[in-house]
Amino acid sequence: MPYLPNLASPNKSAHLKSVNALIAELDRAGKLGVRFVVTHLGSHMGAGKEVGYTQIIEACNRALSIVQNNVRLLLENTAATKNSMGGTFEDVRQIIDGIDQQSRIGICYDTCHGFAAGYDSRTPEQLDTTLKQLDAVIGLNRLKLVHLNDSKGKLGSHLDRHEHIGLGHIGNKGFRTILHNETIRELPLILETPIDERRNDEHNLRKVRQLSR
Ligand SMILES: [Zn+2]
Repeated sequence: MPYLPNLASPNKSAHLKSVNALIAELDRAGKLGVRFVVTHLGSHMGAGKEVGYTQIIEACNRALSIVQNNVRLLLENTAATKNSMGGTFEDVRQIIDGIDQQSRIGICYDTCHGFAAGYDSRTPEQLDTTLKQLDAVIGLNRLKLVHLNDSKGKLGSHLDRHEHIGLGHIGNKGFRTILHNETIRELPLILETPIDERRNDEHNLRKVRQLSR
């Protein structure tokens, strides 16, 4: 999904536009044979979490009922910044519970967002604890894709700032842990790392391949 739509928006016209953007993406993905559409969960903009949940659930149900295809909608965890939805596994679970077509919903785990929200993944033990929590609250079978980003912010900083692989607070050791995990290794991994004078996508991809060996 593009970044601007806000499925949790309490504003009627912004919400409608966001739902229409989601409908267009699901439809496009179906025509292209793309299996997943990842969406951010947006911001309740001060209206409160309960309003945000209602808005997101309604948006997803409407879009999934209008677009009938095999595309699965993946909800992405956030860094739990102010007013953002989906910062905890429990938050994401509450949204999943409201979805009518359960076979068409899943999750995308963003390593930077999870770390910033307080889920540690730097050692095998910490990653194991995080995945066990995810399994208990949401179910590991819902995890279909991983966004692989290092974090400029510290653990639990609630800062949504992506960093090059290994150069942030998750670090080389952390990514070696993540990339050697049997569950994560089997999933599609997508880099959303910056492009700047230090590195580009090719460099980050090379780094990922090196750390996964
Ligand atoms: Zn992401």
